[in-house]
Parts: sequence; structure tokens; C-alpha cells
Amino acid sequence: MIKKISGQFNRLRWQTKLVVSCSAALFLTFFLFSFLEYHIVSKWMMNREEIAINRTMSDITTFYNAKSNKPNRADIKNSQTFLRKMNDKDQLIRVYDHEGHILVSDKNGVFPVLEAAPIRKKVTQRVSIEGDEAFVARAPLKGNDFTGTVEIVRQLNNYRRMMGYLFWVMTIFGIAAIILSAISGYLLAKQLLKPVRDLAKAMKLIKESGFQERMNGYKQKDELTALTNVFNEMMDEIEKSFLLQKQFVEDASHELRTPVSILEGHLSLLNRWGKKDPAILDESLEASLQEVTRLKKLINDLLHITRAEHPRLSNDEKTDISATLHQLVKNLEIIHPTYNLFLEVDKKLPKIAISRQHMEQIMIILLDNAIQYSSNSKSIWITAELEEEAIIIHVVDRGIGIPSEHLAKVFNRFYRVDKARGRENGGTGLGLSIAHRLIKKYNGTISIQSQVGVGTKVKIVLPCTI
Ligand code: ADP
Repeated sequence: MIKKISGQFNRLRWQTKLVVSCSAALFLTFFLFSFLEYHIVSKWMMNREEIAINRTMSDITTFYNAKSNKPNRADIKNSQTFLRKMNDKDQLIRVYDHEGHILVSDKNGVFPVLEAAPIRKKVTQRVSIEGDEAFVARAPLKGNDFTGTVEIVRQLNNYRRMMGYLFWVMTIFGIAAIILSAISGYLLAKQLLKPVRDLAKAMKLIKESGFQERMNGYKQKDELTALTNVFNEMMDEIEKSFLLQKQFVEDASHELRTPVSILEGHLSLLNRWGKKDPAILDESLEASLQEVTRLKKLINDLLHITRAEHPRLSNDEKTDISATLHQLVKNLEIIHPTYNLFLEVDKKLPKIAISRQHMEQIMIILLDNAIQYSSNSKSIWITAELEEEAIIIHVVDRGIGIPSEHLAKVFNRFYRVDKARGRENGGTGLGLSIAHRLIKKYNGTISIQSQVGVGTKVKIVLPCTI
């Protein structure tokens, strides 16, 4: 049952939920408060009625017993005026003897016929007379020529009237409070949910018209303002990353278009003339093969750069930098026998948590560049040393160098200092960008110092604690 109600409640709109919860909470509080108040007032009124009846009884008995002699039947019968004075509204006072014969009686209000009930001891009771509650107080009275009972019957009309009023006042206030709380809950919910509705609207607009839409800021500093700000910041990030992706796709298509167009040119040349002319055939085939190789490298680099965005970093793989560098240099010496590669590695280098494949990839990019851009002096120096919890690797060449205005941009994707020469060398402009991204993922840094005609020095810092 409770599950069913809570299920139905959960299906309601947030605004309705807030209004219902607000009203329910207020109703419960008011109901509890009224319930307690009603009972406390009821008890207090009852007490007052009891005190009043007892006081009247005590006054009457004191009056009868005050005379020097005990009262006679005649005295009692003559005390009508006194009783009248003592009597209250809705109250009956009478004195009867032990046989139940009424000696004197005074009533204020309508009373049913009540049987006399002589007693020996003073008593005050709450009784029900024909369905209506009343207090009855009885006290024994000893006279000269009789023994009797003084009886006071006090109807609780006043009490009932008061409690009736109280009940109605509470009910009316209760209903008013529920209506008021529902209205204020509705207004509050509307105000509270406005930013959420705005957020939904902004999201819908973004869905329809792109990433430029933002939510309006709010002056007040509350949780919803924080949510709006986070949303706007997130949208800024998404827009930025979307534009970067777009730029990347445009750049990549542009880079891919050149070799494909060259290939297309050679193939149509071959198609038209090359079949019969062996000279054209040879030349075009060679050029086409060169372009295909370039395309392959470009596609490979594109693949690497995408992977470098989110490389799989394994936590437990540790790489021996010294061994990796030695192996790499050995391989390069075989591929480029005309170059002199000087390797100097600190013996105390610890193993660090970087994947061997990533380390090799970074070093191949740097060494390839050093080889590619140093055609005159064919010496390259590679050093690795430990310095304050970090491994510092330098790759130094005496090549053509990079003009200072280009230095800051060489880590950008597809950035080549000299577009034409880059293409001739088979460069894609992606190498340094891949290295930079990978190193960043391992919390390292890469920087370049270079001077045109003097050479280039690339520095990598890899923290040992990664
Ligand atoms: P690429 O694949 O074209 O070499 P990179 O991102 O590796 O792309 O390098 C970007 C540009 O930086 C290159 O086009 C080149 O002009 C310049 N560059 C990189 N390394 C060196 C170096 N050691 N000496 C001179 N220029 C370099």
C-alpha cells in the first residue's frame, strides 16, 4: 500500500510534489499542535469546573455549619435566598434528608428529574445525565433533627460551548493554513523550479540550434545559480572541444586531399598516356608510390594522435628508460648509418611507470625530427639523467633549427615550419603534437630551444612518481 502510494507520488511532477509535501507537512504540524492544544485546554477547563463546584460546596457547608447550633430542617428550608445567591448558571443546588426528601432546592437552567442519593462522605464525580456530561458534588450535612446531603449538579454547557468554539476555530484555521501553504508551496515551487525549466529550455534550444546557447545568469548566489554556472561552463568546454574536433577533421581532410589529388593526377596521366610511354609509366608509378607512402604515414599519425588523446595508461607497467634508449639508438644506427648518435645515460636511472611503447613512440618522433632536420651536421646527442625525482632527457642536434616565431606553435597539430619542405621530407606536422599529448598524460613536460642554423635542443621531464 505504502509502496503503491510512494510509486504514484514519484510519478508526479516536481512542482506538484513540492506543493503536496509542503501542504502535508504544514497540515501534520498544525494537526498535532491543535490536537495537543485542544486536549490541554479541555483538561484546564474541566479543572476549573471542578474547582468552582468544590468551592461552592465548601461555601455552602461552611454557611450551614457556621451557626452556633446545628441547623434544623426549618433553617435549611429557609435558606432558599442564600442558595439563590450562591448559585451559578447551569447549576442546581439542593439539600435532601437521608430518605431523599428535598428540603430546599435552587436551579439555574433546565435539569431532568434527578434521584436523590444520600451519602456519608464528601464526593465529587463526573457523571453523564441523559448523554450530557456534568459534575456532581455531594457532602453530608448533620442537622439537629435530621441528617442530610448537600448536592450540587453543575452542567458542563459552558465547557461544551468553549470546546465547540475552539474546535471550529481550529478547523477553520487549519483549512486556511492548508490553502495558504498550498498557494505558497505552489509559488515557491514555481520560483524554485524556474531555473530548472530554463535549463531544460536552454538544452532544447541547444539541441535545435547548436552549442552557442547559454543559460541566463542569476543575481542571487544559491545552489541553482551554481548549477547554471556549471552548465554554462560545461557548454563552453563542449563548444571548445567540438570546435577543436571540427578543426581537426578539416585539417586532416585538407592534409589527406593533397596526396590523394596528386595520386589522382598521376593515375589519369597514366590512363591517358602512360600505357604506351614507359618513361611516363615509370615516373608516375614512382611518384604515386611515394604519395601512397606519405598517405600511409599520415593515416598512421592520425591514428596515433587520436590514441594519444586517451592513451591506455597501465598502472603497473614500469619501463627501464636506459634499456629503451639503448635499443632505439642501436636500431636507428642501422637504419641511418651515416648519422652519429651519441647516447649518455645516468647509471642510477630508476624504472618509471610509463608504457614502453609510449616511451619508444616519443623518442622515435624526436629522433626522427633530429635526423630529418639536420642534413649538414650528422651528429645527434641523447642524454638522460636523474634530477630531483624526475628523469630529464635531452635530444640535441646541429640541424637547421626552428625560427623563434614558430617555436611556440610546433606542438600544434599539422603545424610545419616550412610547409613545402615538410611535405618533401614526408612530415605530417603531427609528430611533436603526439609526443606532447603523451607526455602530458604522464604528468611530464616537453620544451624546445632552437636557433636557426645552430641547432635544436628538445627537453623532456618525466616525474619518477608517475
Ligand atoms: P613533422 O612530422 O612535420 O616533423 P612535427 O610535429 O614533428 O611534424 O614537427 C613540427 C615542425 O617542427 C616540423 O615541420 C619542423 O619544421 C619543426 N621541427 C621539429 N623538430 C625539429 C628539429 N629537430 N629541427 C628543426 N626543425 C624541427
